[in-house]
Amino acid sequence: MTYVVLMGGPGAGKGTQAKRLRKELGLPQIATGDLFRENLRNETELGKLARTYMDVGELVPDEVTVAMVKERLSRPDCANGALLDGFPRTINQADALQTLLAEMCEKVHIAPYIHVNPDILLKRLAGRWTCSDCGHVYHVLFNPPQQAGICDIDGSPLYQRVDDTEATQKRRIEVYFEQTAPLLDYYRDKELLVEINGEQSIEQVHEDLVQAIRNTD
Ligand code: ADP
Ligand code: ADP
Repeated sequence: MTYVVLMGGPGAGKGTQAKRLRKELGLPQIATGDLFRENLRNETELGKLARTYMDVGELVPDEVTVAMVKERLSRPDCANGALLDGFPRTINQADALQTLLAEMCEKVHIAPYIHVNPDILLKRLAGRWTCSDCGHVYHVLFNPPQQAGICDIDGSPLYQRVDDTEATQKRRIEVYFEQTAPLLDYYRDKELLVEINGEQSIEQVHEDLVQAIRNTD
């Protein structure tokens, strides 16, 4: 089993890379942001609660986030491990993940850190467009679809996330430095952190990630 924790700020390319790795490694992508958005669309109680935090760029409380991940990890498609994208985001969540995996006699195998400087993170978030159907992510300048506003994969319209306003983007990056960046030392101390240069082409970042993950086998 392989449990990979993808680290990196908002806009670093975790989602983009997780989707590619998913195919190559045959592991499911567990993206807490996507799970919250699914709850939002289905108008669940969890979705309504999460929205109040997401709309302003703050983190959803650890307790509900951990419970959601616990349920997701118990599903059969996680039998061989998982790619965690956007979780953990606090030390508390990281401790909870250790406990969860230990209960399954498992552990985190590697925490690749996709390193991108904050000014570039902001540019990435500002131009991000997402497929309304399959969730594939594009960038107006760096990774444009063949036809503006339309997904290359399934032809569905692209949209800009409601939390991708300038104020929320800035707050998400601040929250990342305050609450999530301490996790870099957390995983570094456990000798699980591998730094990847995230300011390369999507293809090159992918290759570096595959190499780093395969090296842990
Ligand atoms: P991005 O791709 O910009 O990093 P995400 O889709 O990962 O954004 O997350 C969007 C929002 O969902 C976050 O701003 C936060 O409110 C919430 N969220 C996602 N993951 C977590 C988490 N692990 N803990 C708490 N809140 C989370
Ligand atoms: P995260 O999940 O870490 O928040 P995303 O995967 O959603 O990040 O990527 C954020 C934006 O940056 C998207 O518009 C995506 O197309 C773009 N992007 C991702 N990786 C790269 C890269 N290596 N170079 C340029 N743009 C990128």
